[in-house]
Amino acid sequence: MSPTTAAECLFCRIVAGEVPAAVVAETDRSVAFRDVSPQAPTHVLVVPRRHVANAADLAEASAEELSDVVALAGQVAVREGLAGAYRMVFNTGAGAGQTVFHAHLHVLGGRPLSWPPG
Ligand code: 5GP
Ligand code: ZN
Repeated sequence: MSPTTAAECLFCRIVAGEVPAAVVAETDRSVAFRDVSPQAPTHVLVVPRRHVANAADLAEASAEELSDVVALAGQVAVREGLAGAYRMVFNTGAGAGQTVFHAHLHVLGGRPLSWPPG
């Protein structure tokens, strides 16, 4: 179960236009906007318009909406000049660093990305 309701969710408020964000791309199902605290020269978050807590819940709710998030992330990566060298990350759970409990895909690139991550 989501620990955050849609009414109090930061990313729902960004999707609704109630909280400003630097939107870089959108579809009828997803919105992509710049992370306010970038961890790489390009750091974009792609979120489904639907409020669900994490990627697995999104997959259960709608495979098409999960696919739309990933496809839009790929388009953003190309547009940002990252094709061939970027990372997509879904942090899932507080212990893995998730702080906003509305599913979001981090798209990171523009610098060397080590593996495994620290
Ligand atoms: P998480 O840690 O949950 O995987 O990622 C949440 C991300 O949301 C963080 O990278 C954080 O910098 C970003 N973030 C938090 N608040 C805001 C905000 O108000 N606007 C934007 N654009 N990003 C935010
Ligand atoms: Zn939400």
